[in-house]
Amino acid sequence: METIQENILNNYFQLKQQIPENTTVVAVSKFQSIEKIKILYDLEQRDFGENYVQELKSKYEQFPKDIRWHFIGHLQTNKVKYIAPFIHLIHSVDSLNLLKEINKEGKKHQRIINCLLQIHIAKEETKFGLSFEEAKELLHSQEISEFQNVKILGLMGMATFTDNVQQIESEFASIKAFFDKIKQDIKCPILDIKILSIGMTNDYKIAIAHGSNMIRIGTLIFGERNNNSI
Ligand SMILES: *Cc1c(COP(=O)(O)O)cnc(C)c1O
Repeated sequence: METIQENILNNYFQLKQQIPENTTVVAVSKFQSIEKIKILYDLEQRDFGENYVQELKSKYEQFPKDIRWHFIGHLQTNKVKYIAPFIHLIHSVDSLNLLKEINKEGKKHQRIINCLLQIHIAKEETKFGLSFEEAKELLHSQEISEFQNVKILGLMGMATFTDNVQQIESEFASIKAFFDKIKQDIKCPILDIKILSIGMTNDYKIAIAHGSNMIRIGTLIFGERNNNSI
């Protein structure tokens, strides 16, 4: 356990040294044990990201309530209700229908739920997300302008999993350009665009060079994920 603790400590401080101070690190804790998360919590890390609703809910219940939990996985409409009371930021909104459900649950719990639109920038077809066109359409829709319990704070994207740096750069450049464009052009009452959530273990440096102010880091902090470890 001691070496695991030392590794996490070293990884974490090394990462923190390499990034600008205003970059939020979301520690991606999916499949990571309570003990490992606790190590980071004790270092004052407060932003944690999870992909699965049940796992997130269980961890939420076991930790102090000052953790800011981020939902970064694909979210099914019928599961919004489980995270609505406490979620800090949902990164993965990819349909009007999902946003509508989040608004409904926000209202039920008398809170405003902060969201990002997930944009599909990767080549892989399996990844979820809206195209730029679909995102624009969503932001222009009459319906969302009436939502009282949801706010869109920015965009999230995942680059293609590849060693081809140019490919990753061009994908991050495209989402940054879109981010700047909607910030300037789109007037939508529930839009308050300031977060660009791009960059993971393999590409966070490229992401930061392309305007990321929120990176989602799992492996680089915790080591390889073990699906059986929780
Ligand atoms: C798992 C995951 C991450 C973290 O990935 P690492 O490569 O381990 O840093 C980031 N974002 C999303 C959406 C993920 O699913």
